[in-house]
Amino acid sequence: MEKPESVTNKVVRGLLHPVVPVLILIFFLGIASVLKYGLDRQDERQINSNLTNESQAMANSLEREFLVHVEAVRRMAQRLEARPDMTEELWSQDARNYLDDFGVYQALEWIDREFIIRWLEPLSGNEEVVGYNVAFSAERRAALEAAQANGTIDISGIIDLRQGGKGLVIYVPVYAGERNNGFIAGVFQMDTLARHLLTNRVLDAFYVRISDDDAPAYELNTGGEYARNYAHTVDVDLPMLGWSLTVTPTTDWVNSRKSIWPWTTFISILFMGVLTSLTTLLVQLVLKRNRALLKTRKELEFEIDQRKAAQQDLARLESTDALTGLANRRFFMEDLSHTLSIADRQMRQVALVMLDLDRFQMLNDTLGHQFGDELLIKVSERLNSLSDEKVLVAYSGGDEFMICQQHVDSLDDVIHLLGQIKQCYAEPFEVQNEAHYITATMGIAIYPQSGLDTDTLLRNADIALYRAKEQGRNTYQFYTEGMQEREVMRLELDKDLSHALANDEFVLHYQPQVNLAGAEILSAEALIRWQHPRRGLLPPMEFIPLAEESGRITEIGRWVVMAACQQLARWQGTAFEHLRIAVNLSGRELDDEHLVDHIREALETHNVPPERLEVELTEEIFIQNIEHNLNQLSRLHQLGVSLAIDDFGVGYSSLGYLRDFPVDLLKIDRSFITEVTERHDDAVITRAVINLAHNLGIQVVAEGVETMDQLTFLKDHHCDLAQGYLISRPVPAATLEKALTEGTMVTGVPVDTRI
Ligand code: C2E
Ligand code: CA
Ligand code: CA
Repeated sequence: MEKPESVTNKVVRGLLHPVVPVLILIFFLGIASVLKYGLDRQDERQINSNLTNESQAMANSLEREFLVHVEAVRRMAQRLEARPDMTEELWSQDARNYLDDFGVYQALEWIDREFIIRWLEPLSGNEEVVGYNVAFSAERRAALEAAQANGTIDISGIIDLRQGGKGLVIYVPVYAGERNNGFIAGVFQMDTLARHLLTNRVLDAFYVRISDDDAPAYELNTGGEYARNYAHTVDVDLPMLGWSLTVTPTTDWVNSRKSIWPWTTFISILFMGVLTSLTTLLVQLVLKRNRALLKTRKELEFEIDQRKAAQQDLARLESTDALTGLANRRFFMEDLSHTLSIADRQMRQVALVMLDLDRFQMLNDTLGHQFGDELLIKVSERLNSLSDEKVLVAYSGGDEFMICQQHVDSLDDVIHLLGQIKQCYAEPFEVQNEAHYITATMGIAIYPQSGLDTDTLLRNADIALYRAKEQGRNTYQFYTEGMQEREVMRLELDKDLSHALANDEFVLHYQPQVNLAGAEILSAEALIRWQHPRRGLLPPMEFIPLAEESGRITEIGRWVVMAACQQLARWQGTAFEHLRIAVNLSGRELDDEHLVDHIREALETHNVPPERLEVELTEEIFIQNIEHNLNQLSRLHQLGVSLAIDDFGVGYSSLGYLRDFPVDLLKIDRSFITEVTERHDDAVITRAVINLAHNLGIQVVAEGVETMDQLTFLKDHHCDLAQGYLISRPVPAATLEKALTEGTMVTGVPVDTRI
């Protein structure tokens, strides 16, 4: 399932969107526009306010000037009032003074009561208006007559002058009412008046329109480019006149007043926007590139991790045994060498345990590799449960395991581990739906005492293992100094053993068994000895385990059976022809499919009835590999050979096999007999075994009878047969024959010793 995207991630992804720089640009454009608009508005307000000021100033100046002229004309009228007899010449003189002073008049006139222009100054340029009646319209006449009557000023408004051009006339009556002596009139050429009133600055910069009662009356500066939208109108406050002044600035004037700030601000902010936007774009590109790089890096890292994992898998596979899943021998050895170097520095010990499954080879050969493999897996699982940081368990191949224990401080640590290992075999192994009891034998070498390098340690652990096997299975042995020599001897012995058969170095000794009920010798156990060319007569314990290990036991076994049959044949027709011989068979011999055939062959060869031969097998054979062994033993039994269980009571608690196997005889182990008269337990067991066997219809032999008390005990408890040094040691056939003939053997309990 995909992980929900985090808020930060979303924000980052949003910021990386291509639209962001555009939005930034638009944002800045917006701000720039708003600011520019605001600044423009302010500029405009400033311009308008300037314009208002200019217009007002113009209007004020117009008013002031105009009133000055009105006042001047009024003074002339007053002078004429004061001197009614004033001549034309004197008046002209006075008028000229005024004209000189003001220079703005087109003309000054005296108009009589009948409104006819009489006197006029200057004459030149105005000649034709002399005698002109200024009350040229009813309207004008009414206005003039009103002024005459009331003595008030009359202003003509802007009119077309007789002299040409636009102009206006101020009429000031000389006396009011009946005494009226006409008017003094000041004629102004509009052009002149305007120019005079308005300064040059104004004239350059503005288009000025004077409206009379809202009707355009006069325009100044009509040509040129004007900013029409800036036109400003002010009322001119003049007596009698409804003038207004409309001022329109030239575009130059407007432009010169326009501030550079709106555009500067706009462009600056826009520039900033472009910069920010470009920076954002750049940052985005860098971030995107970074992200891409990061992604590639992650992918690379992932790939590297995968490769590493694959390599580790490979290394693990290379260091692991495919079948058992345990470390393999190669890895174990590498690890051991590493462990030794650490132990060396830490001044600690290391224990190397070589472990061999007892009788595994036999099981594997008879029950098949499938069975063997399954058993190995099961065993490995249990052993592997001991693995921890201090213990490494490896499978070395065949039926061999290796265990390394680090940080060994004392031998107790190793003993504890050995106990744990043994615990692994306490329960049977369930393989192919059958429970199998398995035991193991171990050899232990300790670093540094038993070897300073891996190879030596391994070899010595191996030697210790062989020693342990020699002592019987299901045990362990620590490597000791002497073992090296013994190992050499063992190897030599093994070599010698290969020639022993060919050189006919084996002999059988016979130990008689006495029938307690009849005090007679009816049978003897054949026990092998090796007449070693240099080492003398060797007991079976010194070479049988070796022969079992190497597989030579099968051949030796055949020889024993053949030799026993030969002996039986020899006894035929003699005083000993009633004797039966019991031979020992090791478990390994039972694995041989041809065993029964060979025994039959031996019997037939020597013409010996099968009842004369007895076969002794240890208890464990009846427990292990039941199916196969049952088959072999049944065939033997069918042949007519008796079957005895050797060393009964030491190995197994299960007695079920007694019911299933065709057992004729049961040999109570020597360990029970040795102290049967001293130890209550042994006595109880011996009695119980005798009873059990009898109840099953099986005869009982007691082994290792050395004292008369033991013999007495056995006889009292109805043990069938007895065997032991008390009666006779194992001896050559001839010795046995002699003893039998002479009757020197102890065959029963003397009457006098009986209570
Ligand atoms: P086993 O079958 O239990 O044989 C009895 C062993 O006990 C013999 O040892 C015998 O000498 C010894 N023994 C008998 N009576 C006494 C006694 O009163 N006191 C003491 N202390 N020992 C007594 P041996 O001859 O050394 O044989 C040892 C083992 O070797 C046998 O134990 C048997 O398992 C094996 N063996 C002997 N011969 C053969 C053979 O031909 N083939 C095979 N496969 N194994 C053999
Ligand atoms: Ca025996
Ligand atoms: Ca025995």
